[in-house]
Amino acid sequence: MKKSKINKSSAIKFNINDGLSPDCKSKKRMLSEMAGMYLDSEAYSQSLSNKDVLVYEFYDLGKPEEPGELSYGTTIIYPGKIGNEYFMTKGHFHSILDTAEIYYCTNGHGYLLMENPEGAVELQEMTPGVSVYVPRRFAHRSINISNSEPFVMFFAFRADAGHDYKTIETKGFRKLVIEKNGKPEIIDNPKWNSD
Ligand code: MN
Repeated sequence: MKKSKINKSSAIKFNINDGLSPDCKSKKRMLSEMAGMYLDSEAYSQSLSNKDVLVYEFYDLGKPEEPGELSYGTTIIYPGKIGNEYFMTKGHFHSILDTAEIYYCTNGHGYLLMENPEGAVELQEMTPGVSVYVPRRFAHRSINISNSEPFVMFFAFRADAGHDYKTIETKGFRKLVIEKNGKPEIIDNPKWNSD
C-alpha cells in the first residue's frame, strides 16, 4: 500500500455564514449538471433555458484516500426550486458502504435525507448548531428549504470511503422533499426505480 505523505497538521478557514474558504477552491455543481435529478423535468428544462445557475458547491481537499485519513470540508446549497422541489445535492452512497459521516450545520435551514439499500429512510432537520450522524450504509442528500439563505454544513468522513453517485442518478431516492402550501413536505418519489 502507498504510504501517506501527510504527516503535518494543517489549518483551513471556512466561513460559518457562507461556508466558503479563502484557502482553497470549491467544486461547483451547476443546474445543467443536475439533469434527471428533479421530478418536474419540464420545469427543469424551462429553468435551465432561462439561466444555468449554481445549485451547490463543496470542498474536496484531496486527502489521500487511505484508511485512517479523513476527508472534510463544507457544502453549500443555494436557495431555489425546480417546480416545487427544493435545490439539493445529487446525493450519494459511499463506495465502501459501511462508512459513516458527520454533518454540522453552521447556517441556513435544511434537511438531510438518508436511505439505505434495504429501504429504511431517515430525515433530519438542520439548523445552525445541529449535528447529524449519517449511519453506515445510508445514502445522503442535503436539501435547502429556505427561500433566501444558503444552507451551509461542515462534513467529515473516512477518506477512502469513495462516492457512488451512479446508484442515485439511476434510481433516485425513495422520498422527495417538496414545498406544499409554503411548507416542506416529504413524499414518495413517483419516479423511484427499484430495478
Ligand atoms: Mn458522503
